[in-house]
Amino acid sequence: MHRAGWVRKLDFLGRIVLPMDIRRGLGIEKQDDLEFSLQEQGIILIQIVKKQCRLCGSNHSLMPYRDSFVCIPCIRELKAV
Ligand SMILES: [Zn+2]
Repeated sequence: MHRAGWVRKLDFLGRIVLPMDIRRGLGIEKQDDLEFSLQEQGIILIQIVKKQCRLCGSNHSLMPYRDSFVCIPCIRELKAV
């Protein structure tokens, strides 16, 4: 990202569009979950990292692996190879 201080107008339903530079810079995709947090300084928008297995997409029995997650069944499959 090369710039801070984007100004966006709320539409008639109270929605805003995140600037493309921000979305691309943070890897935010359509339908991603974001969390609004109210702070003294204003509103902070937090990107929620989806926890799912990098190999099969499951969100159960996850173990952290580098910058993502792998589920235990996939780990067992890999060990059997
Ligand atoms: Zn898996």
